[in-house]
Amino acid sequence: MKLYNLKDHNEQVSFSQAVKQGLGSQQGLFFPLELPEFELTDIDEMLEMDFVSRSSKILSAFIGDEIEAHQLHERVKSAFAFPAPVAKVTDDISALELFHGPTLAFKDFGGRFMAQMLSYVSGADEKITILTATSGDTGAAVAHAFYGMENVRVVILYPQGKISKLQEKLFCTLGGNIQTIAIDGDFDTCQSLVKQAFDDELLKKAIGLNSANSINISRLLAQICYYFEAVAQLPQEKRNQLVVSVPSGNFGDLTAGLLAKSLGLPVKRFIAATNANDTVPRFLQAGEWLPAATVSTLSNAMDVSQPNNWPRVEELFRRKTWRLTDLGFGAVDDETTRAAMRELADLGYISEPHAAIAYRLLRDQLQEGEFGLFLGTAHPAKFKESVEEILGQPLPLPKELADRADLPLLSHKMAADFAQLRDFLLYK
Ligand SMILES: *Cc1c(COP(=O)(O)O)cnc(C)c1O
Repeated sequence: MKLYNLKDHNEQVSFSQAVKQGLGSQQGLFFPLELPEFELTDIDEMLEMDFVSRSSKILSAFIGDEIEAHQLHERVKSAFAFPAPVAKVTDDISALELFHGPTLAFKDFGGRFMAQMLSYVSGADEKITILTATSGDTGAAVAHAFYGMENVRVVILYPQGKISKLQEKLFCTLGGNIQTIAIDGDFDTCQSLVKQAFDDELLKKAIGLNSANSINISRLLAQICYYFEAVAQLPQEKRNQLVVSVPSGNFGDLTAGLLAKSLGLPVKRFIAATNANDTVPRFLQAGEWLPAATVSTLSNAMDVSQPNNWPRVEELFRRKTWRLTDLGFGAVDDETTRAAMRELADLGYISEPHAAIAYRLLRDQLQEGEFGLFLGTAHPAKFKESVEEILGQPLPLPKELADRADLPLLSHKMAADFAQLRDFLLYK
């Protein structure tokens, strides 16, 4: 697969290069030069396949020229070693639960596939540093996906005090090849430190810098697969009336959903659901891109006011000649998020703030005859404190969390200062 840099279409790279590099020059995102499409009959056949076989077929439409089918299948099998079930909430709304992986959030799909691809495309004694910023869940997924991998050092930046205690415990207690830094700032600050590191050619060479943010194309490709998995679990009559609501922060998940549609998956409409960090909904409403300062919300993994993946969404609409006006959108404040969680609990479905936002907009915007699916991006127990407080009932910890809850945090603390980060990367 060839990809081009959205900031300079003349810069073209292979999938392997894009996986290793993360970003192109001027911090440009890579985007596929060819957008594969399946025939309707292919799609029907694929929807009958098992998750791993179908996912290998989807991924091979993009990267089959760079990785042999059997290899790809084996690697998809080890990355996607857990299910993505669709759970019924009401007669016309279901949740796609993406939180049954080792770190209990959808980021496990992308993180683990990226680890597989990176190890596939890297030379045996090439040393790599993965530097990534996290708003809570990417860090854990990436840390666990790379933990113990030889020749890979992982450095994760996160906004101090702005992620849940259990989120922090999941990835800041590992040690070994995983280093974590609590930055005095918000997620956008962390993201901008990472970008500065990528602009530093000397540093990049010295430590073999790679990013594992949702900007890495391998993560996005992996995420396409569970949209197909969702449709495969729906009865035939619901498949053609499908509206999918995606809780969005950096907009990687929505980009993947749109790529699934571009491959031919029948999705009538997507809804871009955000919290009070509503740069995209305001843009879709008024046509102006006006990021405000990031505010902290209950759905902290979506506390992003400058979503990195948005240029990819725009590029895809342009390439497919789709209209942005067909994209559903909305922003939900904390109070309404709480109400949505209680409403879901009354329906017999325990959820957490991110999914509740997607649910709320879906139930508001779903039309007669349509079937709605919202993405359950994290396990409710990951947000135990707020979920228990909002729903007024205790939430048992799943084993993955219980195992780490009492371990000491191993994080470093740092000011939002690139010089300090650079030193750390070079000498620590
Ligand atoms: C990362 C994350 C999101 C946002 O996903 P993007 O791809 O960044 O839009 C939503 N919910 C949860 C729980 C997350 O961890």
